[in-house]
Amino acid sequence: AQRQLVEHERLAALGELSAVVAHEVRNPLGAIFNAVATLRRFVAPDAPAHTLVTILEEEANRLNRLVDDLLDFARPSAPELYPVPLARLLEEAVRTATSGQPRIRVEWALQPDVPPVPVDERKMRQSFLNLALNAVQAMPYGGTLRVAAYRCTEKPGAVVEFTDTGSGIPPELRERLFQPFFTTKATGTGLGLTIVQRTLEAHGGHIQHDVPSGGGTTFRLVLPLGSEAEPQVG
Ligand code: ADP
Ligand code: MG
Repeated sequence: AQRQLVEHERLAALGELSAVVAHEVRNPLGAIFNAVATLRRFVAPDAPAHTLVTILEEEANRLNRLVDDLLDFARPSAPELYPVPLARLLEEAVRTATSGQPRIRVEWALQPDVPPVPVDERKMRQSFLNLALNAVQAMPYGGTLRVAAYRCTEKPGAVVEFTDTGSGIPPELRERLFQPFFTTKATGTGLGLTIVQRTLEAHGGHIQHDVPSGGGTTFRLVLPLGSEAEPQVG
């Protein structure tokens, strides 16, 4: 119990620190985005400096996602639920995760009868993005990201799947995936899956992971229809 208390306090302190850092990073980041937008007006698309502007923008976006994740982790808020077509959120997240990644092939398997489930649009897009980014990062030499959505057969709701043909997850690491700050990446935060799991739970849903027959990884998300969702902080 003592150990749990220490762990709890450690996480609370880290949460506080994350919130402070994230807020402090937001302002300079805003200035960088403005400067990039201005630069875009002065640099012709075929000018050599155009690549530099693109790098600036991509890296600023990366920082922005880090700040989003830190803030979400440090200050979880109750989701604001509205029925949203999942296909649009999936497309936005996958486009962001795969832009500038010519070796990643995307395969879509979106069934037309997926019910529009009530979700917090921002949180769910962020979760989809985290899963799509993990998939892309697991395939440094290229591969296929398969995104599926279909009607849930066990209860009213939708199922979303992200399957990659990447490195896979060693069995001994599987139970730690969702722990805050667990990462195997040199520049990872280990917050992505923690946030995805929390977001799913706050929607009354859940996430599980699976090993597809051909290797790689599948993350499967179940999102229930409104009646079963019990909104909670997270
Ligand atoms: P991060 O991406 O910052 O490392 P995450 O919480 O998103 O943090 O993921 C935690 C860890 O889970 C990763 O470092 C990686 O080891 C593993 N992981 C997550 N998704 C995948 C995947 N699609 N393929 C292989 N490993 C994965
Ligand atoms: Mg991640």
